Order: sequence, then structure tokens, then C-alpha cells
Amino acid sequence: MTVLKLFEYEAKDLFRKNGIPVPEGFVVDSINFDSGSIDYPVVVKSQVLVGGRGKAGGIKFASSAEECVQAVRDLLGSSIKGERVEKILIENKLDIRNEFYVSFIVDRNSRKHLVMASTEGGVDIEEVAEKTPEKIVMRHINPLEGFFPYMAREIARDMGLSGKIATRVADVIYRLYLVYRKYDAEIAEINPLVVTSNEDVIAADAKMILDDDALFRHKEFSGMVRREGTPLEQEAGELDLNYVDLDGNVAVLGNGAGLVLTLLDLISLYGGKPANFLDTGGGVREETVLSAMKILSKKCRMPEVRVLLINLDLAISSASVASEGIIKGLNMYPIDVPIFARIIGNEADLARKNLEKAGIQVFDDIEEVIKSAIEEAERYEHISG
Ligand code: GDP
Ligand code: MG
Repeated sequence: MTVLKLFEYEAKDLFRKNGIPVPEGFVVDSINFDSGSIDYPVVVKSQVLVGGRGKAGGIKFASSAEECVQAVRDLLGSSIKGERVEKILIENKLDIRNEFYVSFIVDRNSRKHLVMASTEGGVDIEEVAEKTPEKIVMRHINPLEGFFPYMAREIARDMGLSGKIATRVADVIYRLYLVYRKYDAEIAEINPLVVTSNEDVIAADAKMILDDDALFRHKEFSGMVRREGTPLEQEAGELDLNYVDLDGNVAVLGNGAGLVLTLLDLISLYGGKPANFLDTGGGVREETVLSAMKILSKKCRMPEVRVLLINLDLAISSASVASEGIIKGLNMYPIDVPIFARIIGNEADLARKNLEKAGIQVFDDIEEVIKSAIEEAERYEHISG
């Protein structure tokens, strides 16, 4: 899965550019930085993509250059909730009076944007939602109507704020909306939004997740794409394949997401256990098939995987091209579990002959091929106990 999660310092750069106040600071990736030219005290913040860094020990405070260097030394290379710290953000420490919460998210169920704001920030917002839901102000935003400054002021008022703080919080809420829309974010969150003792309102933390389907509109972020998932899912993602690891014993290759999902359902229906989802996408080309075979050869080397089931239904692309891809793939990336295939559509006769020549059992009927694959997988399970 492709995710475009921004690091705190990246999100804060976007905030700064768009008029949301953030603390002064800079990023370091080694202990060789100019610790003498900073105003102390500072906050030393591990840049990892998981939340709750504070509780996990990823955030330290330093009141002198020595403490700051020591904190950076402790944090760099350490692991926060399983994520290695490679960069650290050093910022002037804020003098906190209150910690608020603000976020915009895409609410898929209502097909609207959702803004949430609370004076109970700093902590887990889930906890606030559970214990004191009345302390969270929530508004849906119809994407066709949009969100306007007066709505942000209403939210600040409903949070119980007034005067200068209400104005400043409303301004941040409105600007956060603009940032959220401008960069096609799925989430833009400030937690905590800090009110300092001299009543400045500053984003002390920043979380942004961008919609990777909108990446084509934001070439500036293409270098920031980070992949999530199992190692094989990440590798498949780099090859532009839609691949998901499952925990069964029947590896699967198919074309078309709907068709592959149906195949997985049928495998389950007949008592089998699919080992993965893999959709080559429409317009099957040799290159895609080769990529798929590369991933599958790795998958089929896993001890739990017993058979490979191929189901290609090609109306526009040529089945024979696909079959040649499979055979070429098998030569490049050997697979030594039995392979059961069904290949229909354009030039299917030729495709079938190609596959049979390569020792693959080819079936016409979808139920038959699935049942045979499951039977084979089960047979192995019994042999190996
Ligand atoms: P998170 O734990 O990953 O969400 O990291 P945050 O950036 O939200 O920091 C966690 C907590 O550290 C905040 O809620 C604050 O209580 C505290 N903190 C962060 N920055 C500052 C700061 O500049 N001054 C003070 N006093 N506390 C801070
Ligand atoms: Mg936070």
C-alpha cells in the first residue's frame, strides 16, 4: 500500500508556508550540529511516523547545549514503537498554558469532510471521545459547499473560547482547512495546538496523511512516497502491482480486482485458504506478468504456500502474450509448487498449449481449477502433517 504520511517537520513546513504558526526549529540527522547558536530550552523530537512519541520516550527536553547533544545522541538510531529514528527536530520549547486539538479528515461514511476541535488536546483524542465526547466539537463539511472563516469562528466559540484566543484558534482552524484541501490530505491534525502563556496560538505537533491517488497533482511530494505493508507488499507496490499478503496456502494470480476477489471468495467457499491477493490490472502486458511472477516466486517459496492458482480472463489483451509472460517468468523466477491454471479469452487456445507445454495443468472450468488447486494444497498439508 502506498502511503503518503508526512513527518512532523515536513507537515510543519507546509503549515509555515500557509500561515499556521509553528515553533522555530531545525532538523538534524547527526550529532554534528551547531548546538551553541540555539536559544534554550528546546524540545528534541524524534521524527517517526507513529503517534504517541511523547509517551514512548521519543521526545526530550534540553535546557543547555550539553543536554541537547546528549538528547540527540540518545534518540538518533533508537527505535520508537518499532520505527528507527533517523531525523530529529529541535525546536524552541513553548511555554504551554493550554493544549487544544484540531483536525480535518475525510469521513468516507458521510462522504464529507469532518472537522474536530477540542480544548482537551495533547492526549489521545480517542480517549477524550470515549470519556467526555461533549468536549469535542464536530462538524461535517459538504465538499460542494466548502468551509468558510465564519464556520471556524463558530467552532472556536463552541469550544468555549472567546476574545483574542478564539480569533487566533479560528484562524488556525481555517488555515488548516486550506492546507488540508490544497495538498489533498486525508488527515491534517494538530495535537496539541498550544496556547502559550502570552496567548500565542502555535501548532506544537503536526500530522498529515496525503491521498496518494492525488499524487499526480503534487509532483513535489513524489520523493516522499513511503510504502507500508509486508516486505512482499512493498516490493509489489514498487512494481505497480495490487498485492496483499493473506495467510492461506493457495497463491493466486488473476487479472482484474473484482475477478480476483471473486476467485478468493470461491476458494474460501470450497474450503480453501488463499495466500494472497494479486491483480495484474487491466490490459495485461508481458511486463506486468513478469513482475507478478517475480513476486509469486518469492511467495511460493514460503513454507505455508502449497500451490499456485492462475485465473486469467482476457477479453482485450492477448491470452497468448500472457501465457508467454508466465513461461518467461517461470524461467527467470522459478516456482516449484504445482501450478493450476485457467486462461480464457482472446487467443486462449494458443495460450493453453503454451502453458501445457510448460507442464502446467490447464482447466476450462473455474470450479474445477479451484477445487483441484485446493485438493493439491490439502494433500501437501496431510503429507507434511
Ligand atoms: P506525540 O506524542 O507524538 O503526539 O508528540 P507531540 O509533539 O504532540 O508532543 C507530546 C507532548 O509533549 C505534547 O502534548 C506536550 O505536552 C509536550 N510538548 C511538545 N512540545 C512541547 C513544548 O514546546 N513545550 C512543552 N512544555 N511541552 C511540549
Ligand atoms: Mg501529538
